[in-house]
Amino acid sequence: MINYSIFTTIYTMKYVIIGIIIVSGLFLASRFIFFDKNDLDSNLQHVNEAKAEPLDREVVVEIESGRTFSDITEEVGIGGTLMHEILTASEEVYDLVKVRVGREMKFYFDKETDEFKQLIYPVDTEEELYITVQEDASILAERKTIEYEIRVKTVGGSIESSLYESAVEQGIDIRAIIDLADVFAWTVDFGMGIRQGDTYSFIFEERYRNGEYIMPGQIIAARFVNDGKNIEGYYFNEGEDEEGLVVDGYFDLNGDSLQKIFLKNPVSFKYISSNFTTGRRYVEAFNVSTGHRAIDYAAAAGTPIRAVGDGQVTSAGWNSSGYGNRVSVRHNSLYSTNYAHMSKIYVKYGQQVQQGDVIGAVGSTGFSTGPHLHFEMVKSGTKINPLTVDLPSDKAVSEDRLGEFQEYIKQWQVQL
Ligand SMILES: [Zn+2]
Repeated sequence: MINYSIFTTIYTMKYVIIGIIIVSGLFLASRFIFFDKNDLDSNLQHVNEAKAEPLDREVVVEIESGRTFSDITEEVGIGGTLMHEILTASEEVYDLVKVRVGREMKFYFDKETDEFKQLIYPVDTEEELYITVQEDASILAERKTIEYEIRVKTVGGSIESSLYESAVEQGIDIRAIIDLADVFAWTVDFGMGIRQGDTYSFIFEERYRNGEYIMPGQIIAARFVNDGKNIEGYYFNEGEDEEGLVVDGYFDLNGDSLQKIFLKNPVSFKYISSNFTTGRRYVEAFNVSTGHRAIDYAAAAGTPIRAVGDGQVTSAGWNSSGYGNRVSVRHNSLYSTNYAHMSKIYVKYGQQVQQGDVIGAVGSTGFSTGPHLHFEMVKSGTKINPLTVDLPSDKAVSEDRLGEFQEYIKQWQVQL
């Protein structure tokens, strides 16, 4: 019996041991499989504890009109010697004498010693200037690319009175609308060419920083139905050419550039955007029967006038037969353009100009009843209607990338 009881004891113990192994195994497994929420919470708590340490002192200065860099540094308690060291260190990278009104300059002072440690200043929308006092007390100045968080957005609408008003109604960032107008600047005249019922849709990148919307970025794809005509544009980057220049731009469905040798309008949409509606407020369009062979763009005095194409200035000055201050640009052996009634002329006879260069300002000089730009396009000595001329594209997607381009745009085309 003893033997039997020993046997049963051993037999029972065997099950107890197996039981212990199974239970502890399950327990261990649970630690791995069921990731414990309490563990996460305690980890977070550690992070929070670490963050609770005192931070460097931050001073944010908004640059006001008339304030120089030395005024600002004095205000935040940086002495003259250090200020000069900062200026010298940043010389090669950014000229701090040129700080812009309205931007913010951030200063950081060490949490223990309260000594100046770092300065951050936005150079533009793409880069920030960092000035840092290093461990050996030397000053390092560098530009860093701003890393935005990108979100893709699709918007659109139809035009009742103006593109600007439609955008405001739709709650679209007006800066994105100005970019959209730039995409179509060669194909649509956003002054005279807009018709009631025109529609648009476009896909663009929105730039965020720390979860906050900052500004619109690249327009990826856009469609504009202008007077029943469908125009599409897709951004495509072909990479760098042999000279290291980025080859990119907006191309239509066939891969032809939207960029043409002439802009459709000598006044940028960004200046006419809020004032002008579907052509109604324009002074006078091209009309052979009345003899007005020009387009009159009404715009506030002082509005910048841009050259519609590359060329050479063949006259710039006063014209006594009614044009007032006038500039003429010869584009090639066939085409030239004239810009009249200007309040100011910014170019000289013989000067080379590029497409989009500002050559003068809108005025009312000569025979004129109010501020407007009288714009003429001349082909082989005859004044032609710039709204109806159809000109060839500047460039196209290279042949070996065309297949790739057409494949790429499919995804965007369905979203427009
Ligand atoms: Zn006129």
